Amino acid sequence: MANFPTHIVVGTIVAGSLATLTLAADVIAPENLVAVTLAGSLGSVLPDIDLKDSRPSRALFAGLAVFFSFALLFHFAPHLSIAEMWALWLGTLLFVRYGLHTAFHRLTSHRGVWHTWIAGLASAFATVLAFYYVFDRPDGVAWLAGGFLLIGFLTHLVLDEIYSVDVLGNHIKKSFGTAFKPFDRRNPWGSAVMAAAAVALLLVTPSFTTFYDGITSRPMWTALNDRLLPKDTWFGIMLKRDRMIASPAAEAGAPVTGSLPAPDATGAPAASPPPAAP
Ligand SMILES: [Zn+2]
Repeated sequence: MANFPTHIVVGTIVAGSLATLTLAADVIAPENLVAVTLAGSLGSVLPDIDLKDSRPSRALFAGLAVFFSFALLFHFAPHLSIAEMWALWLGTLLFVRYGLHTAFHRLTSHRGVWHTWIAGLASAFATVLAFYYVFDRPDGVAWLAGGFLLIGFLTHLVLDEIYSVDVLGNHIKKSFGTAFKPFDRRNPWGSAVMAAAAVALLLVTPSFTTFYDGITSRPMWTALNDRLLPKDTWFGIMLKRDRMIASPAAEAGAPVTGSLPAPDATGAPAASPPPAAP
């Protein structure tokens, strides 16, 4: 599999490229776009969350801990005293970083159920819910974030399959063919639970209509297609060379000639109406 920095870099490039398209489509506000892009980056490292006692897993849980502690803090802050905010923030941080981390590794094996398409879907639906209910974003933005996370997640699985190299070393593993899979055949029960979780999360997600109408809008795709390449020159830089070639040619092509032949004078005179009889 690809190592942690590679996943971060490739995932961020993929998410950033999609974010650029989204910006050109002018469908969401720039501040939402940054959060949505981060969801894509998160998705690109999420499948390796099941690596026991590894730097990627600790970093992921530390990141998730910071994310959730601030998310809850911002959500509940208006109703709490400062002491309660400290307790909530620290409690969430420690619970996610150590409590969930330990519980998670008791339940999972690496490249198991977490390294599957259904886990990607479940994570994407969870992201939609987080953006909608925790961050109070509109449903279209929430679904876009879920979409970015899913694309980041699938990018990770594809990249692992391409590399087939150990995450902390660089020797070829025998695991080729295990990274990009819809579900984990070695763990049918785990796969069933993951699928059930994905369905349960899907049932409580907000309306899909705004997002669907947005990405299937024909005028939007037409506008994006029109804008794909620059009309004249890249970044508006004019090529002086072309002008220098063009200018003398234009003058040389206009030779001075003699007078034009006189027009034919045999045109029929305009018939004047006869004078009216008295
Ligand atoms: Zn992986």
